Amino acid sequence: MKNPKILEQLESWIEDNRSHTILGATAKYIPALANQDPNQLGICIMDHEGELYEVGDVNVEFTLQSVSKILSFIAACDHHGLDYVLDKVNVEPTGEAFNSIIPFEIHRPNKPFNPLINAGAITVSAILPGENIPAKYDNLLAFLEKFIGKRLYMDVEVYESEWKTAHRNRALAYYLAESNQLELEVEEALEIYIRQCSISISLQDLAKIGLVIAYDGFDPISKKQIFSKEIARVAKVLMVTCGMYNSSGDFAAHVGIPAKSGVSGGILAAVPPKWHSDEQAFRKGCGIAVFSPAIDSNGNSTAGTMLLKQLSREWDLSIF
Ligand code: GLN
Repeated sequence: MKNPKILEQLESWIEDNRSHTILGATAKYIPALANQDPNQLGICIMDHEGELYEVGDVNVEFTLQSVSKILSFIAACDHHGLDYVLDKVNVEPTGEAFNSIIPFEIHRPNKPFNPLINAGAITVSAILPGENIPAKYDNLLAFLEKFIGKRLYMDVEVYESEWKTAHRNRALAYYLAESNQLELEVEEALEIYIRQCSISISLQDLAKIGLVIAYDGFDPISKKQIFSKEIARVAKVLMVTCGMYNSSGDFAAHVGIPAKSGVSGGILAAVPPKWHSDEQAFRKGCGIAVFSPAIDSNGNSTAGTMLLKQLSREWDLSIF
């Protein structure tokens, strides 16, 4: 049953944090994202029984952007097995921007540092199951349907906008191709990557995905295991160490919840159950989705991050 006190707390924290939107700005390098209203702030939390707490600007759809990277990683692992995918990408933070080419120039790694930077994500998109790009994309949507019971679709305007301006991602894909790390042609790899970034999602659906990740791939509502516990373990490690890019350390210290951000302003967070504390809200775990399109220089939502800091502190949700 819904706890009215939680809704009240969330209402007041949304108001406390809304002003932090002025600390950021909408992503300018993808013209369709630049047009988003930067003042929006909304949160959806799904508890272990499927109860939804929705506060703020919650009737929104936004594109997954980099949130898709953790989902395509899970989908690729689910199909190929963890070892196969970890043969293509490492599990190390870079300390560089998400779309940096510095790791290639300086370190010349034989595989991208992790699947949550663009180079690693493009590499993983290229190995999504399917004979061609439409099939790979369709298989990713079919995988996500297992979490939320419905087919997502692509925001064509964002896709076209990103495709036209994907100069940096194209450069990264050429670096990957040059060192034989790409299993597709450059243009094909970019197409599947940009398609996955342009998938449109609601806060409610994203919160459900967070809940399943929090529960180690198990859906506590349908009681189905959607993907393996082993994959969930590595996915959560990636979310903690690389999910918020160069702010991952700060986020771990002040929020302490496995999370993944995207430049459209979405954050997916997975709060694992905490069995030792009877008192705290959401001690049985939950999925959290936040949306607020003004982002900082690392690509993370400013107000969304501050809101998560506040609720993690108040409800003692940190895993550390
Ligand atoms: N589609 C965006 C890009 O490739 C995703 C980046 C992000 O959300 N951090 O640049």
